[in-house]
Amino acid sequence: MILLINRDNLFNEDDIKNLEMVEYENYKEDTLYIEREAFRHFEMLKAHLKVDGIIIDISSAYRSLEKQESIFLDYMKRYGIDEADELVAMPGTSDHHTGQAIDIVIMNDGSFIEEKEKLLKEEEVFKKIHQALKYFGFIVRYPKGKEEITGFTYRPWHLRYIGEDDALKINDLTLEEYLLDRDKVTT
Ligand SMILES: [Zn+2]
Repeated sequence: MILLINRDNLFNEDDIKNLEMVEYENYKEDTLYIEREAFRHFEMLKAHLKVDGIIIDISSAYRSLEKQESIFLDYMKRYGIDEADELVAMPGTSDHHTGQAIDIVIMNDGSFIEEKEKLLKEEEVFKKIHQALKYFGFIVRYPKGKEEITGFTYRPWHLRYIGEDDALKINDLTLEEYLLDRDKVTT
């Protein structure tokens, strides 16, 4: 089952009660939690990209409601409510609640690029990463040009694991469009 979390489909802790989370220590020695299959596939994606000289790691994965709330409040204090709403998901609406969403960072000259503005300039690298995603069950959750549908600006670093079968079928659709389409077929 693919979880759809957005402004219209709020996250409920029960949604992930059957998912197994694994612990992962990233490049900053932060301890992250990620759903087991998502993590296993991330490791394969990472190994695949390394052959091409692209080094990636994870800066953020599973976020509890409390964690998202503290991030949102922090942005709100710094930028005000309107700007915060643009930059981060309101608690309950974040794809990170699923445990199957990851934000990746890219290595450049020996250190990882983390700043979103700098990451947005890595178009060529992201193009290569995005082309490989579907074979490992991942999608770009917030694609360019689909802001009206997802409610989020383009985030090339935010990947979502949905499994190879669906990732190979989704093509250029957003998760919102794909699930609506698929549900129409099966019911
Ligand atoms: Zn993200």
